[in-house]
Amino acid sequence: MSGVVAADGSILHHSGRHLHANDGPGGVIRTVVSAARTSLGGIARSSLPVGIAVAAQVDPRTGTVVHAPNLGWRDVPLARRLSEELGAPVAVVNDARAATIAEWKYGAGVGATDLFLLILGTGVGGSAVMGGQLLEGATHAAGEVGHMPIIAGGRRCHCPNWGCLEAYVGGWAIAERAREAVRADPENGAALVARADGAPQITARTVFEAYRAGDLLAGRIVRETERFLADGVVGIVNAFNPSVLVMAGGLVAGMPEFLPIVESAIRARCQPSAAGARVVAARLGEDAALVGAGIVARDYLAPP
Ligand SMILES: [Zn+2]
Repeated sequence: MSGVVAADGSILHHSGRHLHANDGPGGVIRTVVSAARTSLGGIARSSLPVGIAVAAQVDPRTGTVVHAPNLGWRDVPLARRLSEELGAPVAVVNDARAATIAEWKYGAGVGATDLFLLILGTGVGGSAVMGGQLLEGATHAAGEVGHMPIIAGGRRCHCPNWGCLEAYVGGWAIAERAREAVRADPENGAALVARADGAPQITARTVFEAYRAGDLLAGRIVRETERFLADGVVGIVNAFNPSVLVMAGGLVAGMPEFLPIVESAIRARCQPSAAGARVVAARLGEDAALVGAGIVARDYLAPP
């Protein structure tokens, strides 16, 4: 989606376009350019700085997409190519980091100088603001807690490792665990299979819906997910010592019950120095990355 982000963090001229990874960089860039032109057409100034958030490893200094597994891109100079097309300065930022900046400046983390944003969606991501600065890391990837192992020799992850937090509580992993559970226990799994219209179609969402409808097997999956999530969060809060943990992403929206579970795990099991961290739900929803990209463009590209 694209839009113009106002000085107060609100979005003007919101519009959505679908990108197709198999269009390649050229096709994706054409779509982004046309979306940006549509948004910018709604206001008089076409030379406004442009920010773009990408689900990828990004070098924010050069605006290069270093590696985007979902798009199949490596080393695409996105900022330079978009800037040539749009005639405006362009900043490129990783989507989780953009969301963190947005929640920090205009969302659930306003006023905090030390916060961690944990994103529970299909994958598990995160990033930290420490001492009032976004924590970067050597390759701008600090905070990738989804790939923090929680079980030695555990489930295969989508990264090169086994036993990662994401391999248990990511949306894809919840679905995978549920499919295994219904195969192992067809009798108790029948209702979930029927709800999803077939075992291969089971998703985290169908698990949560079945849980709400009182399904025992779905309830077991949710309880196990809570335990894995609590273990992961205790490690994150001990390691980063945030004053606020912001929980974002589709799984949190679908299962707000995770928040009090996470909070009580922090109180009971974190180091006493870290155990006071507040747990709050993200406020900006799906707009967070867009707002964050706008903030990055404004703060790093706009003339003073
Ligand atoms: Zn992993």
